[in-house]
Amino acid sequence: MPQSKTYVIIGGVAGGASAAARLRRLDEQAAIIMLDRGPYVSFANCGLPYHIAGDIAERDKLLVMTPERFEQRLAVDVRTRSEVTAIDPAAQTVSVTPAEGEPYTLHYDSLVLSPGAAPVRPPLPGIDDPRIHALRTIPDMDRILDRIDSAQASRAVVVGGGYIGLEMTEALRQRDLKVSLIELLPQVMAPADPEMVQPLHQELVAHGVDLRLETAVTGFAARGERVAVELGENAAIEADLVVLAIGVKPEVELARAAGLTIGERGGIVVDAQMRTSDPAIWAVGDAVEVEDLITGTPGVVPLAGPANRQGRIAADVICGRESSYRGTQGTAICRVFSQAIAMTGLSEKAAHRAGIACDKVYVHPLDHAGYYPGASQLSLKLLYASGDGRLLGAQAVGHAGVDKRIDVLAVAMRAGMTVYDLEHLELCYAPPFGSAKDPVNYAGFVAANALRGDVALYDPAAIDALGDDQVLLNVATEAELPLISLPGQLHVPLDNLRQQLDQLPRDKELVTFCASGLRSYLACRTLTQQGFRCRNLNGGMKAVRMHREPVPATPPASPAAASAPRSGAGATASTQPDDALQVDATGLQCPGPVLRLKQAVDQAATGQVIDIRATDPAFGQDIHAWCHSTGHELLDSEREGNVHRARIRKTDPEVDGAAMELRCDGRKALTIVVFSNDYDRVIAAFIIANGAATMGYRVTLFFTFWGITALRRDRPAQVRKTLMERMFGFMLPRGARKLALSQMHMLGMGKAMINGIMKQKGVEPLPGLIASATDAGVKLVVCTMSMDLMGFKREELLDEVEEGGVATYLDRAGEAGVNLFI
Ligand code: FAD
Repeated sequence: MPQSKTYVIIGGVAGGASAAARLRRLDEQAAIIMLDRGPYVSFANCGLPYHIAGDIAERDKLLVMTPERFEQRLAVDVRTRSEVTAIDPAAQTVSVTPAEGEPYTLHYDSLVLSPGAAPVRPPLPGIDDPRIHALRTIPDMDRILDRIDSAQASRAVVVGGGYIGLEMTEALRQRDLKVSLIELLPQVMAPADPEMVQPLHQELVAHGVDLRLETAVTGFAARGERVAVELGENAAIEADLVVLAIGVKPEVELARAAGLTIGERGGIVVDAQMRTSDPAIWAVGDAVEVEDLITGTPGVVPLAGPANRQGRIAADVICGRESSYRGTQGTAICRVFSQAIAMTGLSEKAAHRAGIACDKVYVHPLDHAGYYPGASQLSLKLLYASGDGRLLGAQAVGHAGVDKRIDVLAVAMRAGMTVYDLEHLELCYAPPFGSAKDPVNYAGFVAANALRGDVALYDPAAIDALGDDQVLLNVATEAELPLISLPGQLHVPLDNLRQQLDQLPRDKELVTFCASGLRSYLACRTLTQQGFRCRNLNGGMKAVRMHREPVPATPPASPAAASAPRSGAGATASTQPDDALQVDATGLQCPGPVLRLKQAVDQAATGQVIDIRATDPAFGQDIHAWCHSTGHELLDSEREGNVHRARIRKTDPEVDGAAMELRCDGRKALTIVVFSNDYDRVIAAFIIANGAATMGYRVTLFFTFWGITALRRDRPAQVRKTLMERMFGFMLPRGARKLALSQMHMLGMGKAMINGIMKQKGVEPLPGLIASATDAGVKLVVCTMSMDLMGFKREELLDEVEEGGVATYLDRAGEAGVNLFI
């Protein structure tokens, strides 16, 4: 009988435990010793946030396998609280320091390293405060729970908007804490493209999360029972606990000290058989560098699936089986309250970084048949090679069904499929589960149409960069215009298109658009065959919104905030009139719900309430805009899970008096056109605005031409601009602090004098006046046409600003009794 081997495994969780179990299945005779410095092995680290949230009620459920069960079932000698402090590759031994007892050495024939990755802890002032937590192990989780309970915590800060940061944000909100989520980048979930996470930003804010993007934590300071998270010079958030989730770093010190090769990305270098630079040592999981399936370049991808598979492969190879790892594609999913985002393969930004020429399509189909209750829209972005249509990556965001689509696409990518193959995939379908044309098929149709030259696509990211020879053609219906409109558009509803061809310019390229890109595709086909030059706006208005919708202001963070009535909530809102017209718009995607609402409003009697339910994610915002624009009264608007419910009272100008008064909630209204950017004039505008707001006026300031510069942020934003736009940006004042006086400016002396006098008299300086105005509900609307002319982008302006065109101004001015021009 051959002498039995000894296999030693360092790290007993995902990769290590998989390796141990597989080794035993393949080699009944071997001695298998699994060492972990922690008190548990084979626990569900992915489940930790869900236990904190309360979703997984029993802590023991996280212990997938105990040491005793490993011993009993697999005859694996599990040694917890046993840290490996050194490896001697020449002697084939490891040095072990147990928590109790004397250090010892162990001989191995084969060694598997699965030490994982450690949370990054930057050397910031105050970082060692015990109220700052990372989440990696069960003891970490216990400490967080203990802190929440013992401090009766009500306020938390999560630093980092990756998977763990997002899951912890949701968990802490579920436990009733106010949560600030601080992220250095302009987006959460860094591996995804920025427009694909825009719904997540909305979702976080809708659930009362204080979301701070592009914000750096500069340090921590103890403040009594709390810790202050410092955000630059004068800003800090006090919290009972802080969760630090800014990424992980491969644990490679043991391997490095043993002379194993460490790669440029900081992970242990392994070959396809997971063997390190030492022939008797294998390494798996978060600690290793893996080859990217698409680019072939090395990277570190800390995910549980790859770690488990690699553990199995290492065991196969150790036991003499042919097996090799086939690269990582980063397939991942994360839930953020009622939304989920999933992805596989390259993002658009990663493809650009890698220099891979790619094309993309956006589609916004329903997760299952629209006529079956509960359907909701998802947004899917598909990336493919510009020439042959080979799949490169995909991302999906929505309430339901994103996992299924991304999993299908992950398999298709593995199989080397193209967008043409997606057209032919046969996927399971019955109304509760999908559609006869699944979103994956649908994305394939759209991409293949583009590649075959049936339609040319226009990138929604470039919507503000239309050339002089291009014109937007909106083919949505009349009723959709309050929601689906872009500045400078021509409007011809699709159904009238053939009759109105003679009204369209033949010397320009028409960029057709509608809500999601389907009807505008039909328009494009008609126009192309009628001899027009035409492109279809990729993903329609929905994709434009995803690209440029600002992060919304955070509503109050009470747990009920996400479902609290947003407007007009009063006696009428709390009672359900018997004659309310029930409208089920679930399953309809934008603009379906508002079209359905319009039909219902047309049928309803004046004063009657329409109670509508919709699952379209944009409905919560759209309903406010629609009611404002049409004058009907929004009684309340709330979300339960993925269903948004709103109640609207039909108004009638003839009966109720001027519709405008209704729109003003009976309040007087004032508009000021701020044309000038003279410091004193802008101050005058804000003093009037603040005064009017305190007197109960509904105030709108409409900033046009030079006036826009008063609303610029102090710091430049990272935006793409033409040379001319950059010059404009350079020459014009950057924000309220930089404006000059209309007279007596005297190189700033006059302005300093005015500021001094204002201070003496207790008048706030201009930035303070602006903040007071927005706090008092004054609307700041910037003219989109002026922005376009002067090359200002939304990101360069204050968060509180809304965009609007002449129609918006006239809409507000029409309802106001006082209109001023400054
Ligand atoms: P680990 O599972 O981290 O195990 C490493 C073990 O090695 C640790 O127990 C450590 O104590 C031990 N160790 C290290 N050095 C030594 C030493 N010198 N001596 C003895 N023992 C040592 N991935 C997903 O795909 N989906 C998810 O939803 C997901 N959610 C997550 C949520 C959280 C909170 C966390 C922390 C991770 C999550 N992950 C998720 C990532 C996933 O858990 C990891 O990718 C996976 O566990 C990596 O496996 P591993 O074996 O490489 O390392």
